[in-house]
Amino acid sequence: MLTKDDVKSQTRSGRQLTCAGVLYVVALPIGNDEDISARALRVLSEVDLIACEDTRRMARVLASHSIGTPTVSYFEHNETHRIPNLIARLRAGARIALASDAGTPTISDPGYRLVRACIEAGVRVTAVPGPCAAITALVIAGLPTDRFAFEGFLPPKAGERKRLLLQLATEKRTLIIYEAARRLPQLLSEVAATFGPQRRVAVVREATKVHEDIVRGTVAEVAEYFSSRQALGEVTLLVEGAPVSGRITTCPELDPSRVVGALLEVGLSLKDASLAASKITGISRREIYQGAVSARKVTDSK
Ligand code: SAM
Repeated sequence: MLTKDDVKSQTRSGRQLTCAGVLYVVALPIGNDEDISARALRVLSEVDLIACEDTRRMARVLASHSIGTPTVSYFEHNETHRIPNLIARLRAGARIALASDAGTPTISDPGYRLVRACIEAGVRVTAVPGPCAAITALVIAGLPTDRFAFEGFLPPKAGERKRLLLQLATEKRTLIIYEAARRLPQLLSEVAATFGPQRRVAVVREATKVHEDIVRGTVAEVAEYFSSRQALGEVTLLVEGAPVSGRITTCPELDPSRVVGALLEVGLSLKDASLAASKITGISRREIYQGAVSARKVTDSK
């Protein structure tokens, strides 16, 4: 039976809970089957329905624990279409578990919209916490864990990616970035070019699996390491935060004129580009703006 702890009275969420239905956001292992919690197994066996990314994959998990709960697919491209039906069932009193292929649903995985829709509809939402690649990688990377920022997957378009990396170059917190293994060398070279080659990073690969490994070093060293080896499996990149004070001067890409140039290229006005470049490099906005104006005059007069 689901216990009282699972279905507690309403929290002060601002909306009345209008039905007995409950959505359980259930975390699954990220590679090691033993990492499923006792509570996750109990909830998966007691709910009326499991909404999951891949029903065949979920069938294997359920079969290995002799659980017969019905499943329904819920993935990025059918989210909008599925939500009304799931909400109707929840409002009628159903208990539904939401699970993704691995790790915690909603973290670079579908689920957020369903959680939102439940809150809007007055349906209780509760979590069955467990593995998450971001936190797993962070705790074994050896980079500061007191403050960190989860970036998930960076945008695929070159301009947006570059603009975001430039903004992140001065981020003081440890960064957590998800990436497909085949694109890791490209990501490492972008980080080296934008943050400087001396920034410390850790690549956590296949965490919790048999071939788990972690490559730590400066971004230049780690990029060099992966230039001659193929990264296989699942990878998470951790990047040390920017130094607390002082200009970042180790990196030619952080030359203010190059930073302004890159920001102008992605469509910022000279005023905005100068402001952003000032924040990135630590050089005054006025100095950068005037430098860019003079450079323009020189180019125009040629
Ligand atoms: N929701 C999942 C979670 O909570 O961990 C993340 C899903 S996201 C679609 C998949 C990304 O997570 C991968 O591309 C990789 O960057 C990271 N990842 C997943 N499993 C991993 C593992 N075992 N080791 C390292 N990174 C992993």
